[in-house]
Amino acid sequence: MTLRGRGPRRGKFLSELGIVKDGALLVRRGLIVGVGTRKYVESLPAARAAEKIDLGGRVVLPGFVDSHTHLVHAASRAEEYELKIGGASYEEIARKGGGILNSVKKLRAASTAALQARALRALAQFAANGTTTVEAKSGYGLELTSELRILALHRWLGQEQGIEIASTFLGAHVVPAEYRGKPGGAERYIRLLTEVLIPRIAEDGLAEFCDVFCERGAFSLEQSRRILQSGRQFGLAPRMHAEQLSRTGGAQLAVQLGAVSCDHLEQINRADIRVLGASNTVATLLPGCDFHLGLKKYAPARELIDAGAIVALATDYNPGTSPTVSMAMILSLACAQLRMTPAEAITAATINGAYALRRETKIGSLEVGKQADFAVFEVADYREIPYYFGVNACVMTVKRGRVIYARD
Ligand SMILES: [Zn+2]
Repeated sequence: MTLRGRGPRRGKFLSELGIVKDGALLVRRGLIVGVGTRKYVESLPAARAAEKIDLGGRVVLPGFVDSHTHLVHAASRAEEYELKIGGASYEEIARKGGGILNSVKKLRAASTAALQARALRALAQFAANGTTTVEAKSGYGLELTSELRILALHRWLGQEQGIEIASTFLGAHVVPAEYRGKPGGAERYIRLLTEVLIPRIAEDGLAEFCDVFCERGAFSLEQSRRILQSGRQFGLAPRMHAEQLSRTGGAQLAVQLGAVSCDHLEQINRADIRVLGASNTVATLLPGCDFHLGLKKYAPARELIDAGAIVALATDYNPGTSPTVSMAMILSLACAQLRMTPAEAITAATINGAYALRRETKIGSLEVGKQADFAVFEVADYREIPYYFGVNACVMTVKRGRVIYARD
């Protein structure tokens, strides 16, 4: 599956996978220099001296681009999982100091070595599941030193590991405990973000994007606007968590601000769908959250596709609401719950994810000049990737021409 053609994909173009039967790729210095049928690629002069890897008729597709993760965190929140099953809502748990604040407490207390080791294990699992690029958000530090520590880790992990990391500053995840419930506390925290953290992070080149959790109990529409505008002023492109648990108007704000993506969108209405459909802001859907939290209301993917929105899919890998690294599982949920076809889901998880990270000219499809980022699946038909749910059929993952995962 080459996914060749112009990105991003909307409407019926989400279904165009550019399948080549008996296909081959020619790779040199990490880039694709030939792609097509095996016969064509073998006829290229540059192919004569090439080392040959026979993939035995398996399915090859661009490496998944997971455009929404909270990669760096200290521990799971399995204890809250049990409370949720018992009937406590995500917001109730958050109000009692659980949720994001629980992860903040754990991260601040964790050593950098421990955070590093945990993130490295997760990245190895991402690679084993066919993912070659992840976006990673800070947001479990919520103070100067801890946030800088996470962002520095993003940079280090991106250099050390095969997987490419796009770094996002999410200081506006929630208002941290030491500012909560105090008069003017939220305002003082926002000033810390806009006057200290954002300028410092921009100066040190530690993030490409600035994100806000626009939600009741987190940041209001007006606060979100100020934080994202401040980020943009310092060169951090806006993206948003919005319309997940309640409708706030965040999706339309994201479009107004020219955000690269607006993520979640379970609660959007018809007007929001129209606005997103006419925009270049990617509608990133995260069905892993709804699945893990046992929520029944998934984002209206079909309506978004019909309205022309650029739909992407991501794991939202995080310890509270979506502890999975498996894009294949997200594809299964997209098909069964969002009613996307396997082809639409694969496009949303590759080229549209690349567009959501402003990397569509480098990754997300298998075309000459792009990075040789691809995954090999042990299936007879691409539709079997979402069809076999909860199993990992990825047998090899290649990043910039280098094998970063091989089964056996
Ligand atoms: Zn998230």
